[in-house]
Amino acid sequence: MEYFEICIWAVLGLIAGSFVSVCLDRLPLQFADDEQRSSLLTSPDFSLYLKKHIRKRTLSLATPARSFCFSCGHQLSWFENIPVLSFVLSRGHCRKCNTPIGAGTILTETVHGLVYLGFGWFLNGWIWPLTFSINFSFLWILGRCWSCRQTRKVLYFAGAVLLILNFGVYYY
Ligand SMILES: [Zn+2]
Repeated sequence: MEYFEICIWAVLGLIAGSFVSVCLDRLPLQFADDEQRSSLLTSPDFSLYLKKHIRKRTLSLATPARSFCFSCGHQLSWFENIPVLSFVLSRGHCRKCNTPIGAGTILTETVHGLVYLGFGWFLNGWIWPLTFSINFSFLWILGRCWSCRQTRKVLYFAGAVLLILNFGVYYY
């Protein structure tokens, strides 16, 4: 395999890992039940910006479009959004309020980069590596959101759609 192709898979994995991190941050809040919402709204750890979205139920994977710090609401610039690199450069802290970002983000991004690279390396073509990689990302999200009952229910539906897609690829 060409070095160029290996790099593509690694970069794809890092981007996917970055998206998965957003899912892990936002999905449990998006699908929080009323009891969880009220405890989130009184928590001193969250910014007014985040609380506004929780109160209005406007937090989703798509909105707000830009990633932001949950503690201070600081919206991240493009250079604070580069997988792994931004985390290393900011030493794992928000540039504005200095709150630790948490090792979960860099772990998710790094593991995704390596796993996507691994599937791209060992499996032929592009459709199988991509299918395995997407399944991996889904299982990663499911595993990390397992304790959030509401989110888990939503993920079951996503899992059913993914299963159909898997069969589609298999019989393709
Ligand atoms: Zn912050």
